[in-house]
Amino acid sequence: MKLKLLTASAALSIILYSCQKESDSKTSSIPESVLSQIRAQGFSSDGAVAVEGGYRVENDIFLSYTQLKSTPNLGPDLRVGDEEQYHTTNLLKSLPRTITVSMNYPSNVALFTAATDTAIARYNKLGLRVTFQRVSGTGQINIVGSDLGGGGILGQSSGFPSSSGNPASPITLNSHAGTFTSSTSVQWLGTIIAHEMGHTIGFRHTDYKNRAFSCGGARSNEGAAGVGAIYIPGTQKSAKDPGSWMLACTDGSNRPFNPNDLIALNYLYK
Ligand SMILES: [Zn+2]
Repeated sequence: MKLKLLTASAALSIILYSCQKESDSKTSSIPESVLSQIRAQGFSSDGAVAVEGGYRVENDIFLSYTQLKSTPNLGPDLRVGDEEQYHTTNLLKSLPRTITVSMNYPSNVALFTAATDTAIARYNKLGLRVTFQRVSGTGQINIVGSDLGGGGILGQSSGFPSSSGNPASPITLNSHAGTFTSSTSVQWLGTIIAHEMGHTIGFRHTDYKNRAFSCGGARSNEGAAGVGAIYIPGTQKSAKDPGSWMLACTDGSNRPFNPNDLIALNYLYK
């Protein structure tokens, strides 16, 4: 749930390339006949690893030899994942409702307030059954600052909606020196806040099955993480979705909701 910044796109391509090579070499020891069985079960065979009794796919899913040989039960949601949208099991309840958002980041207050308002406006103009309102004091979602260290960490959400259907809080943005400055773009910071707000109302990372898509490198994927990762119908694309606001890593650009994001938001909360 930590959103990281990647700045050097050239370095990113190199990392992605090395990652792909590593993935290929891991998978290359598995016969193609097995890889196709894995795909037939509805899983990605990328990065599959042979383990005792079967194969581990998509980072944390164990497929036994017996399961691999069984007839796949290919329901509408059992398919090879792409960079589409996922939500958690718990979502907001008691809709329609207005969720209050407070901004208590300790420095550059005007900038952070403007960015919070930008994020809120992006949601509110969609006509969803959930809207947001910035308040002073402590809102139902409280945006705070804390030193999360260097290394490109920008912020993190405290989690996903509770079983009673309330948003997670707080959203912590990194106050480590130099992470955000007075020259930080309001639109970019607004994108980061909108992303963290997305988690608090139940959005997983768009690329949760393949974090290398936005983060590069040999990062581990997230798995269901005990919170669920339910495919949102209609968001599948044959092409990748590089502009989604819920990608795990930012490239430093402004990411207002793209058409795929709007399908997902409308599906959950219209
Ligand atoms: Zn995130």
